[in-house]
Amino acid sequence: MEIKAIRGFNDILPDEIGKWQFVEKTAREVFEGFGFTEIRIPILERTELFSRGIGEATDIVEKEMYTFADRSGNSLTLRPEATASMARAYLEHQLYNYDSMAKLYCMGPMFRYERPQKGRYRQFYQIDSEVFGVENPMVDAELIIMLIHFLKTVGLDKLELQVNTLGDRTCRPKYREGLKKYLEGKAFQLCEDCKRRIETNPLRVLDCKVETCKQAIADAPKVTDFICSECQKHFDSVKEYLGAAGLSYIINPRMVRGLDYYTRTAFEVVSYQLGSQNAVAGGGRYDNLFQEIGGKEIPGIGFAIGMERLISLLPEGKEFSKYPDLFVAALGEAPFKEASRIVNQLHLEGVRAELDYEGKSLKSQMRRADKLKARYTLILGEEELKRGKAVVRNMGTKSQEEIPIGNLLDIVKQKIL
Ligand code: ATP
Ligand code: MG
Repeated sequence: MEIKAIRGFNDILPDEIGKWQFVEKTAREVFEGFGFTEIRIPILERTELFSRGIGEATDIVEKEMYTFADRSGNSLTLRPEATASMARAYLEHQLYNYDSMAKLYCMGPMFRYERPQKGRYRQFYQIDSEVFGVENPMVDAELIIMLIHFLKTVGLDKLELQVNTLGDRTCRPKYREGLKKYLEGKAFQLCEDCKRRIETNPLRVLDCKVETCKQAIADAPKVTDFICSECQKHFDSVKEYLGAAGLSYIINPRMVRGLDYYTRTAFEVVSYQLGSQNAVAGGGRYDNLFQEIGGKEIPGIGFAIGMERLISLLPEGKEFSKYPDLFVAALGEAPFKEASRIVNQLHLEGVRAELDYEGKSLKSQMRRADKLKARYTLILGEEELKRGKAVVRNMGTKSQEEIPIGNLLDIVKQKIL
């Protein structure tokens, strides 16, 4: 039987890779321009990192993690997100000794055991950015500005920025209580998971995707009715800085985000072109995460972009694939050897050159050059070679001219590169 990939795990094939490379390259350029540095973290971590960091009563920890025991019996988990690992690395290597703040980004695969569907996979890719060590709301705005700038730079517009505040340790418990009371009155309308969440984590109900639950929360109390003056001040400043940067946003008082560690600022970028899996990116502030994973009290804020969803939104018409610069078509033994010499030399010069290895007819070599979308073809025949000449054909305009082989490199550099 043929072996197939696991459900929810995708191959990214050569004809799609141009888009991925473009997005990754743009992310590096934009983020580094904003002063961020890449960090690479392991794909496997101890399970406690996520159960303590993300929160026991979250969807991710309750039902989405790929957790298993290794051969020594340690419980390990394939990372479902990157923030907890980045925070762990920051503490473990005492990066705070180098500077009081760190601006870090990383990109790579994440793993969550969710029901695979469009925009939702079991292995998916994220680009993550985090700022550790700054409490000032200026940095909340700076990070959101960078995210929107990045999304615009890759060609996404028609996006909606939603912001909210989630309160902190002073005011969130009061909101939690208020929400719990409200939900108790609506329990008959809620799904089984949400009935349980009323006790374990009532805020999660606001994030439920079941239609009847969405209806049940229509009149639920808003976090903004409960927040303390410190959180209100922080939120007002974030909005002021976003306004000063000319960003438009809407306030979504129901947005809670899927992870427990968020405090104060939460934000999401949604696209109405995506259907039900509509969040392209999300993030927020997490001033308690570091404590949860055993460190000191360090404030943090970050976001994660879902790469599959982003890539599905890239505008049509832009060419991402790479094609040969020059296809060398040769006919006869001596020309074939010469073609091989030329192609090897061109490769050293960084020219994407191709040739035929199978001794096919000139016609079929030209067909292959066409299929590969080569920009130019160099045609080498016995007669021309004896005279030290070859024919260069522009595959777009179909115009061709004879050139001295000795000048090929110069011509390639002038015309093709
Ligand atoms: P959702 O509400 O769609 O489940 P989330 O709140 O779980 O998203 P985060 O943990 O904040 O998502 O991750 C940030 C981004 O990563 C999301 O906005 C989304 O674009 C992407 N993402 C999350 N889970 C998946 C998945 N299973 N498959 C593909 N992309 C995903
Ligand atoms: Mg989710």
